[in-house]
Amino acid sequence: MNHSAPEQPADVVSRLRATFRSGHTKPVEWRTNQLRRLRELLTSHGEDLAAALHADLGKSSTEAFRTEINFTVREIDHTLEHLDGWLRPESAPVPAHLGDDATAWTQYDPLGVVLVIAPWNYPLQLLLTPMLGALAAGNAVVVKPSELAPATSAVVARLLPQYLDTDAVAVVEGGIPETTALLAERFDHIFYTGNGTVGRIVMRAAAEHLTPVALELGGKSPAFVDRDADLAVVADRLARGKFLNAGQTCVAPDYVLTDPATALALESEFAQAVETLFGTEPQQSTEFGRIVNERHFDRLSSLLDSGRTVTGGDSDRATKYIAPTVLADVDPKSPVMQEEIFGPILPIVTVADLDEAIGFINDRDKPLALYVFTESDTTRERIAAETSSGGLGFGLPLAHLTVSDLPFGGVGESGMGSYHGRYSIETFSHRKAVLEKPLG
Ligand code: NAD
Repeated sequence: MNHSAPEQPADVVSRLRATFRSGHTKPVEWRTNQLRRLRELLTSHGEDLAAALHADLGKSSTEAFRTEINFTVREIDHTLEHLDGWLRPESAPVPAHLGDDATAWTQYDPLGVVLVIAPWNYPLQLLLTPMLGALAAGNAVVVKPSELAPATSAVVARLLPQYLDTDAVAVVEGGIPETTALLAERFDHIFYTGNGTVGRIVMRAAAEHLTPVALELGGKSPAFVDRDADLAVVADRLARGKFLNAGQTCVAPDYVLTDPATALALESEFAQAVETLFGTEPQQSTEFGRIVNERHFDRLSSLLDSGRTVTGGDSDRATKYIAPTVLADVDPKSPVMQEEIFGPILPIVTVADLDEAIGFINDRDKPLALYVFTESDTTRERIAAETSSGGLGFGLPLAHLTVSDLPFGGVGESGMGSYHGRYSIETFSHRKAVLEKPLG
């Protein structure tokens, strides 16, 4: 291979396709070996990766290890432990007209060459977790890191080829032109994480080749707080979930939905929770991240006056700092309620009761996640039955995605398809139907 000029997308894809055709990626030993090598990369270069994540997003080392590096290591370990079981063919009952000597089963076939396009907010985890699922399923993979997290993109482009089989795994760096060129190629699956506008571009390009897609998108994930909930606990958990990565988390609670009295009582609890997490001067806290770039900083700054400030509200463009902010008396028609916030601003919107809350949620796009804080079984059951969302969290935001045996994905505007654990095998495989009838 000529390393002086970057390989063209068409050449990358045909090279990987030749590898896949040769059968090289199919043996389970090859797959588990790739996963072990990836694990070694993550454990030997944790500091390099954490430094890149700090450069891109001001992520603290604790957060980088917890939500990106160790998260991915755990997913590798879970996959290594269960892969054989997940891949086992499953027999199916055969109808009587085929005779009792016929057997039928399903088996997982890898799809071929998979494209993974990742966003900037968890630029490592959201690139490597789909990739390792695709490898575990026996595919060759092209990964495209986000150009908006350039330090992470560079370190991944440098390290992956040192650890993984370069005949089957390729990193293509770049932004819109490079991604557009990649999307013109025929892939066997495209796994995209990011916003819905680009999701539509990806799906249109995929349609040209009848390529299946998984779209991991975002949107406004509500948090409903019932009047019976312990508000100190609620505020603490919501603040942790919201202000992680400075609010730039696809499953972050986007806004709080509650009745007026609970909203008022929550105000002081939120102020306390933020102080407990980041001190009286969050700007000085090493645990609080920064906004990815000026464009997003300006977008978020313009949302700060969408309500009465309970805590936070200040910002500093030079360091892309936006304070962990809670806003009360927020009108559903205000700017902050029009789009996914994707930053450290938490509006509190009031509704009269549970019925109105359910109506509010169902009037809008199906969220990626919905969080509910209540002591009432009836409320939990009603929410589960009467609303639709990618995931549903009772009592704790974000954590459902750390359960490897749960599918992670959206529905409607928040996306399609899912992954993590065995669901990655489902996504990156074809479940082939096989029937066998002896000739004798
Ligand atoms: P981004 O800007 O990094 O874009 C994502 C990817 O799309 C990048 O690799 C980028 O190069 C590519 N891209 C951008 N414009 C393109 C174009 N015109 N054509 C082809 N490719 C293009 O990230 P983003 O979209 O700003 O990410 C934030 C969004 O992602 C939020 O809505 C968030 O909720 C969502 N998100 C979802 C999940 C999930 O798992 N469901 C996770 C993280 C983020």
